Amino acid sequence: MLSSLPGRLSCWQHRDKYPYRKKMNLLNTKLLPAGEAAYQLAAELLRSGELVGIPTETVYGLAANALDPQAVLKIFAAKDRPADNPLIVHIWHIDQMDELCDPPELAYKLADAFWPGPLTMTLPRKPVVHDCVTASLPTVGIRMPSHPAAASIIRESGCPLAAPSGNRSGSPSPTIAAHMFDDMNGRIPLIIDGGTCDVGLESTVIMVNEDSVRILRPGGITVEQLQEFCDVEVDDGVYKKLEPGQKAASPGMLYKHYAPKAEVTIIAGTDEQYRAFLEEKKAEGVFAMAFEEELSSLPCPGVSFGRKEDPASQAHRLFSALRECDELDAKTVYAHSPEQTGIGLAIYNRLLRAAAFRVITL
Ligand code: AMP
Ligand code: MG
Repeated sequence: MLSSLPGRLSCWQHRDKYPYRKKMNLLNTKLLPAGEAAYQLAAELLRSGELVGIPTETVYGLAANALDPQAVLKIFAAKDRPADNPLIVHIWHIDQMDELCDPPELAYKLADAFWPGPLTMTLPRKPVVHDCVTASLPTVGIRMPSHPAAASIIRESGCPLAAPSGNRSGSPSPTIAAHMFDDMNGRIPLIIDGGTCDVGLESTVIMVNEDSVRILRPGGITVEQLQEFCDVEVDDGVYKKLEPGQKAASPGMLYKHYAPKAEVTIIAGTDEQYRAFLEEKKAEGVFAMAFEEELSSLPCPGVSFGRKEDPASQAHRLFSALRECDELDAKTVYAHSPEQTGIGLAIYNRLLRAAAFRVITL
């Protein structure tokens, strides 16, 4: 009974006013390869208040015209996303940033260095940005994606696009169009297939102050990269589960995320310790999620999440690996802990949430 859940959007509670759910069931979701014709269709749909799945360099996004509250509400309905989790607004040109918010000088410096790319800045919003985009926060998250399909669709549509990851709430983010189709088939009219996402993890989300930034969610742009420009603090919510009632700097950090159906636990230890642990635990339905090089020597079946010394490959594989666990009908997954430096911090952060903060240190 979605309509009775607290925190869900009121559109579920007023189905006559917003009969989108009934409409969603009738939708025939088209999957079109990236290209000019597809961008035109996407832009038309977006201008008319519809949702479109778009590829970005981070993960696939579920886009709507950010300036059209009715369209934005459809995002929350299609994803079943809690209304208090704000959306990131995607732009293709720096001038759009000034239309949406009042950035401090540092934001321009960071935009110059990292845009287009996987960095989201939360900035004081202007009244043109509706409450439903920001969950009534005084700031709005802004990002300029580098994927050519995303940039073309934003430009063609003529509007900034609110676009969270294109998964159903709680599931791993889609890094290929087929994953988004699995989650959104029947709920949206169109997904543009732009191939595999380069980074494979969502953007870094930062709060920008006058001379410093605070990382609310680690991602493709690392702490080390940002430190070249300003002081960097990492928010507690990146590493720790927030206590009930504790206020989250980034509301998305409150929710269980990225999780397959299996119970995931992170195992921190050497290769030998990890192997010995699995030897003890092996049983029907128990799977390893491990580095490619170690898979063949493990005592139980497993899925690869990239090469050990290659964090970019781990970022690239992580969400697909989590989805593969479901395909294999895994009941219990023991994931070998990645390093926490560079993009490793983002990988660890996502895995920690997929594991509902269960970590065993050997
Ligand atoms: P997703 O759209 O799935 O990539 O998630 C977006 C993330 O950015 C969520 O964790 C949000 O809570 C966070 N976010 C978006 N806008 C803001 C904002 N204005 N302030 C803080 N966090 C934000
Ligand atoms: Mg998401």
